[in-house]
Amino acid sequence: MTRSGSPPGSIDRARVVAADKRYVWHPYTPMRRWVDETEPFVFVRAEGARLWDADGSSYLDGNSSWWVATLGHGHPRLVTALAEQAKRFCHVPLAGATHEPAALLAEELVAAAPPGLARVFYSDDGSTAVEVAMKIALQRAVLLGRPAKKRFVALDSAFHGETLGATSLGGVELFRRAFAGVLVECVHLPVPELGEPAEGPEARAFAAVEQLLREGADTIAALVVEPRVQGAAGMRIHDAAYLRRVRALCDELDVLLVADEVFTGFGRTGPMWACDTAAVTPDILCLAKGLSGGMLPFAATLVSQHVFEPFLAGPEATLYYGHSYCGNPLGAAVAREVLRIFRDDDVIAAARPRAEAISRAFADLATLPGVARTRSLGMIGAADLGRTEGYLGGLGWRAFEEARRLGVYLRPLGDTVYVAPPLTIGDDELDELLAVVRRAVAYALGA
Ligand SMILES: *Cc1c(COP(=O)(O)O)cnc(C)c1O
Repeated sequence: MTRSGSPPGSIDRARVVAADKRYVWHPYTPMRRWVDETEPFVFVRAEGARLWDADGSSYLDGNSSWWVATLGHGHPRLVTALAEQAKRFCHVPLAGATHEPAALLAEELVAAAPPGLARVFYSDDGSTAVEVAMKIALQRAVLLGRPAKKRFVALDSAFHGETLGATSLGGVELFRRAFAGVLVECVHLPVPELGEPAEGPEARAFAAVEQLLREGADTIAALVVEPRVQGAAGMRIHDAAYLRRVRALCDELDVLLVADEVFTGFGRTGPMWACDTAAVTPDILCLAKGLSGGMLPFAATLVSQHVFEPFLAGPEATLYYGHSYCGNPLGAAVAREVLRIFRDDDVIAAARPRAEAISRAFADLATLPGVARTRSLGMIGAADLGRTEGYLGGLGWRAFEEARRLGVYLRPLGDTVYVAPPLTIGDDELDELLAVVRRAVAYALGA
């Protein structure tokens, strides 16, 4: 039996939209406009780099569904890994107990991560991966008898997640405004810019961090960075040299370096980790998003032995932190399979020609009148349209609407139009995606 004329097996699209508009509160969404005006996508299926709407139309997924589906949607090996683990057990506590997925994944992550990371703390998502990194840094300072090391340092326009701790690190003022006065103390410093000469702004960015750390290391717990590319800021890319220099500075001045690779990890910038591009090992590494291949929320925070060591001192050195789903077996089993797929299919090498295609296409976009700036790194390409007005600009959304008409999901970051597709996107699909990006950008600019 079918209701309201919908074809067999399909959902009642209008009913879904009505229930949504009545009851759901959407992330990062002006809700008045959503309820009054927005005709949402209603996705019913996703496979590889493609999403299907209940109305029968399909869309290429230009941003891997908010940067998580690094290996594409519904990867058969990930679906199998999830189902097999679900048949055995879905969740058990990680307090006073362990299980194969969590234990062996930790071993495998330590082997795959930049050399020197030694211990894995599990949590739920990118925000909690950062939150626990902050608590580890603070408590470690107390355990070492240096309780004044309480402040954090992060970069302007940084994004590190949504919990109050992670929000404190964020450098997008718009996202912090409502929470001013209750956030953790964090100093924000200038962001290095890509391609500037060593004497230019990049060197100024380094000089700023050097001055702050030399004067204030006694009160600074950690410097937190998104290595090589600030994702939510609008795909702002900086040089590997900055990372190398802050690594050396943090070593010299005894400040922990936290690399938030929640977005950049798992091949997004080219190699497995953005830190690899600078041959740097952070003291703390935050992973989520691609870690579980877009299947379910799951995160890991890796620390080096010298970060972990003080927590071995005795019961009073315990890290009192943990989530209900800590080390979730489903997430861990999927993450193990993600690592195996990267190895078996040499995902990193296979993505290289696709990264080159993205790089060429975005370099070409720079020739369109009204495109202010373009850049690319690995499986990321970005273009700033017009005079960029950050998150509240309208040109990015014009491109979004046109891309939608042309069969691509191309959510912008304000007036920055970008792609971050699955690393495994088909070559023809990538060509199609990049052609639509060009048409949508030209449309938005009236070119
Ligand atoms: C997305 C993101 C986060 C937050 O991750 P969630 O899973 O959304 O909580 C943190 N840091 C970076 C760099 C991110 O891109």
